[in-house]
Amino acid sequence: MTHMNSNEQRSTEEQWIESHPYMQKVAKFQRIVRGVFDGLSASPVAMPRWESYSVDYETGVPLLLSQVAGLDFTNSASDSLAAAVDRLRESPLPEQLTEHLQNLREFIFDSEDNRRQAIEWLVTGTPENFSFPDVGLLRFLGWESIARSLRPVLAEYAGRRDEDSWMRGYCPACGAQPVLSQLSGDPNARQRRLACGCCRSTWQFRRIGCPFCANENSDRLGILVVEEEPFLRLDFCRDCSGYLKTYTQSGDEEFFLSDWSTLYLDVLARQQGLQRKGVSLYEI
Ligand SMILES: [Zn+2]
Ligand SMILES: [Zn+2]
Repeated sequence: MTHMNSNEQRSTEEQWIESHPYMQKVAKFQRIVRGVFDGLSASPVAMPRWESYSVDYETGVPLLLSQVAGLDFTNSASDSLAAAVDRLRESPLPEQLTEHLQNLREFIFDSEDNRRQAIEWLVTGTPENFSFPDVGLLRFLGWESIARSLRPVLAEYAGRRDEDSWMRGYCPACGAQPVLSQLSGDPNARQRRLACGCCRSTWQFRRIGCPFCANENSDRLGILVVEEEPFLRLDFCRDCSGYLKTYTQSGDEEFFLSDWSTLYLDVLARQQGLQRKGVSLYEI
């Protein structure tokens, strides 16, 4: 089954690149990174204390930021990051990335503390004095490491959540603001899921409403139809100018809810004066 899915996904990706040739570069980079991480075995992360965490969950504390959940992924993710950076050295990366990779390499191999702090900083924003000037590639590879290390934990967490029990405008796992959404189900009773660009969790949200500023006035919410993209549109808010890249079908979630496949929509959004609220891992 897994095998079939990956074939299917590859063909969606291939078709997509064929019709969007300007996505070729990012797709190639994505494939290289995916290959490197697929070849690593992240050390397992112990499950959090679900019982203790449930109080934090009720009050809106994301799992990764909960003190009482006792989730410790820093070692696993920072080891993956180091191993990935090491292996990427031998990969045919676009030229402009080699310098970034070299900077990152020097930084994370300088000390174990550096890479642990880097992972913690990506998730919590602390230590505040964390200083590494070249954060673009760190953000991209760091989140890939975190998401991979936490995959079994996040899958278990998703299975434990009641669909309508979070309904907040930020990720229940890592707390990041969403970048994508999906509308699915019966046209008369469509449901919206939001998708996190960092840890890739998805969660249910109100069908009508802005996750960034809580505006629920439909006159103040807009839809930007994207010509030639029957499955994609931009849902935006006139109050805060935030937007979500929205996938309006079902079946290819894994592909269309991955930020990279629709990066050109962010360019379009910016041209329309909209602001991306969710972190981008692609400012490299
Ligand atoms: Zn997240
Ligand atoms: Zn808003």
